[in-house]
Order: sequence, then C-alpha cells, then structure tokens
Amino acid sequence: MESPDIKTAKPPVPSRNAALFERAQQLIPGGVNSPVRAFRAVGGIPRFVQRAQGAYFWDADGQRYIDYIGSWGPMILGHGHPAVLEAVQKAVVDGFSYGAPTEREVEMAEEIVKLVPSIEMVRLVSSGTEATMSVIRMARGATGRGKIIKFEGCYHGHSDALLVKAGSGLATFGSPTSAGVPPEVVKDTLVLEYNNIAQLEEAFSLHGRDIACLMIEPIAGNMNFVRASVPFIKRCRELCTQYGALLVFDEVMTGFRVALGGAQSVYAQSLPGFKPDLTALGKVIGGGMPMAAFGGTRAVMEHLAPLGGVYQAGTLSGNPVATACGLATLREIQKPGFYDALSARTHSLTRGLSDAAKQYGVPFSADSEGGMFGFFLLGTLPQNYPQVMKTDSPAFNRFFHAMLDSGVYYAPALYEAGFVSAAHSAEDIDATVGAAARFFASR
Ligand SMILES: *Cc1c(COP(=O)(O)O)cnc(C)c1O
Repeated sequence: MESPDIKTAKPPVPSRNAALFERAQQLIPGGVNSPVRAFRAVGGIPRFVQRAQGAYFWDADGQRYIDYIGSWGPMILGHGHPAVLEAVQKAVVDGFSYGAPTEREVEMAEEIVKLVPSIEMVRLVSSGTEATMSVIRMARGATGRGKIIKFEGCYHGHSDALLVKAGSGLATFGSPTSAGVPPEVVKDTLVLEYNNIAQLEEAFSLHGRDIACLMIEPIAGNMNFVRASVPFIKRCRELCTQYGALLVFDEVMTGFRVALGGAQSVYAQSLPGFKPDLTALGKVIGGGMPMAAFGGTRAVMEHLAPLGGVYQAGTLSGNPVATACGLATLREIQKPGFYDALSARTHSLTRGLSDAAKQYGVPFSADSEGGMFGFFLLGTLPQNYPQVMKTDSPAFNRFFHAMLDSGVYYAPALYEAGFVSAAHSAEDIDATVGAAARFFASR
C-alpha cells in the first residue's frame, strides 16, 4: 500500500496522535470511522483532531493546521462561527430530539425551497447516503422503472446499489465495488463515463424506457474536482426528458458550497431555465451536524410516504439541534457578497498554487467554483475518472506530507476535492502558497 518514498511527518515523541491511532486500531477497523481518514492512500499517521476554530484545527500533539477539508465540505463558515454556536447552544437546552415535528423543520424546508428553485417539496434526513438512497427509491417508485444511470468517479454515498463499477459494455450492467454487495443488487445500475456524450446517447437508446433516473454529481468532488461540461449536462437533461427518466443532481457536496443555488444555478447561467427534477443535499445544509435532504418537483415528492407509496423514514430526521445549526449556517451564507468573497479567496489559492508550480516547472492544473476547489499534478484538467487517476500518486503523497509538515491539511487522497471557508484569510492563503512553493522549489 504505502510507497517507501513517502516522507512521513515527524510528530513529537511521544506522539499522542500515534498513541491514539494505536488504541483506535485495537477496537475500530483501521482506527477510523470513515475510510479516507486513515491516511491509507498517503501513508503516515492520521491526525486526531482536538479542537477547531475558524480556518484551523489542532491535533492531539497540539499542532495547528490550516484546514482545507472543513469536515469534507460542511464548514463553509469555518469552525465555531459565533452565530452558529449561539443557535446550537440555544437549541440544546430545549431538548436533543423529540420524534415529533418542529417549527425549525418547517423553516428549514422554506429556506431550501426559496434557495433552490427546482425544489418544490423537500424531506430532511440525517446523511447524504440516506438522501441519495431515498431519492433513488422515490424515482423508481414514481416512474415504475427499475434501472438507474450513474457515472464512474461520482460518489453517491455507500448504499448497495451505488457501490458499482462499469460492466464490460453498455449492454451489461455493473459489478459491485464492495464485498457484501450481491451482484443482483447492482444489476440495474448502469455506470457510464463522465462527460462522454456519445456513450450517454447510446445508453439511452439501448435502455431509455427502463431508466428511472440518471444521478450525477454536476461538479464532481469525489474524483478530485471535475466539472460536467455544459453540453454534457444539457444532453443529460434532454435525454431524461425525452425518455421520461428523472434527472437527479447529487448536490450533497456542491449544494450551498459552489453557489447559493448550488451547481444547478451555475449551469442555469449557461442553460437558461435549466432544472434537475430531483436534488440531494447534505454537508453545508447541516453546518457540521448530521443533516441532509432530498427534494424536487411536487409531482414526484408526493410519491413519498405518508402521502404516497414510497416508504422512507428516520428516527432523528429533522433533528432540532441539527436544524438549528443548519438554519444558522444558511442565514450567514445569504448575507450580501458572501459567495463573491468566498470565490475570490478560493481562486486566490488555486491561482497562487498554479503560479508557484509554473515558476518551478511542475505540471499543475487547478479549478474552483465558489468555496470548492481541486488541483492536479497534471498539465491539463482531467475530464473523467481515468484521466484523474493518471496523476503521479507518489508525487501527490510527497506533496501532501510536505504540506502537512508545514501545517496545511489537504485531503489525504488525490481523488478528493478541497474546501475553503469564509474564515480563511489572505494570510492563510499566502502561507499555504508559500509552503507549496518551497516544496516545488525543492523537487
Ligand atoms: C459526501 C457525499 C455523499 C454522502 O454523504 P454522507 O453524509 O457521507 O453519507 C453523497 N454524495 C456526494 C456527492 C457526497 O459528496
């Protein structure tokens, strides 16, 4: 797994991170509760976070890091924003969970419907995985069809039908990417190449009338950062409409992250009137608390229980503390100029990294939208998963560890996007670019 030339960070001796990782591995598989946290891709010892504030977190050894993960997207305001803290502190004294409806759930639904024009009705859930899994069940229930389309490199949570890779050809459906997923569970999932219009057209001409929905990360953040091209999204929309399939945008990562109206509002700038039928939301919507949502047209959403025949439920759905946290977050991001400032800050990071790489002749490309970014040790921006995976992975790992040693925490895998928050200052960006420049210079 770990390549021998990885430069691992030198933690203080004895390292509390190392000691905690030892203890964790005794009882928790791999020592972590979600695989990418384990540093398996980059090698070395994961940092155990002790506390976080603004753009930073501190690990168990007391080291400070500029945080470019932000809990994988949710912390768009940075950590410990005063308005969010206050809302959560106020909410907890009134009870943690009731299992009965609350006013804040109504307010949350009103905010979502106001901010995302394609959403007429919405249901709250507790994780992105639940949102995408439920939206697929609903799409199948509403259309009476069984097949779904997804794209290679897009991640839609860990439900069985979505842990799948492409079959040998378009006439064959996928095979599981995880042990424990029976082949028959993924036999209705067709996996296509991202940004490949010809293949998409062929798939619809072969299977169109059986397809319940096409699910896509419009700006993919789980194969680093790859945008769907405008013509590709346009064709997705046209083919879904033509064949009566539902277009589902998985905006668990991009929703309220790339723009106030999500990635769909970005595409609507080039494609006037553009809307997906259904949308999955998560991450930013909960502001760091477990909350996610799915929504769409009234006609489709009315298929959901108790109105319709598609069952979906959750003990902690619409949790009162999570809705308080999410609502406070959504209020902050609606302040005038929020996204302009966030986009500019994010762009100053990708610009700075690109300039530094260019100065030292390092192949490099980068892209960003709103507060989400990606960079590649590749001369040109990749358009799909196989192109992303052409990245020189030992080189990325050396870069990752050099940054970590300099107090900069990027995602510990080359196939993950990065996130800038409103708390990142120009000085934080300068320090980050400076550390990258020192690494590029030393190669
Ligand atoms: C994170 C993510 C999910 C899964 O959300 P969880 O809350 O981790 O279950 C689904 N889709 C996309 C696009 C994501 O980025």
